[in-house]
Amino acid sequence: MKKGDSILTLDRIVAKCEWDGDCLLWRGKVGPQGNPAATERIDGKDKYVAVRRRTFLGYHPEVVGIKSNERINTKCGNHACLAPDHLIKVTTRQQAKLTVERISEADKMNRARKISEKMRRHSVITPEMLEEIRRSTDGPYVTAKRLGIKNGSIVCRIMSGTGHKDYRATPFSGLL
Ligand SMILES: [Zn+2]
Repeated sequence: MKKGDSILTLDRIVAKCEWDGDCLLWRGKVGPQGNPAATERIDGKDKYVAVRRRTFLGYHPEVVGIKSNERINTKCGNHACLAPDHLIKVTTRQQAKLTVERISEADKMNRARKISEKMRRHSVITPEMLEEIRRSTDGPYVTAKRLGIKNGSIVCRIMSGTGHKDYRATPFSGLL
């Protein structure tokens, strides 16, 4: 160690973080992918520190080393997070699986959002809406407004029973 050297210890790392809910977010510099990045000075030279790895090893002194096929990942998916509970050691194979799962989850959400947008656009009566209409003690136009149905007459028909059958048979084809 030379004069002016500084090691990035766990305490120093944590001091540069802020809690945000369950996440402990790094407020220092980040790399191109948003991963915490820092340097430390050893023997008068600045050296790059893999902050997440260093933090993980700080939390887990029992872990001697991290193998070449192992990565430190965040469970929460937040690249800047260094929370003790959120840092996990995974193999590159597990990491690849995790990424795929995350993508398919996002994809599922995306599809659900698209379906609901489409339904709203076409004013489809969903089974839940139909149930709500049948149960409603309000007038058809008030009910329509409450459910966001533009065409009140369709609610009128469902309530009076004339349009009811079609919707029950194929709820999703109840286009207005
Ligand atoms: Zn987190």
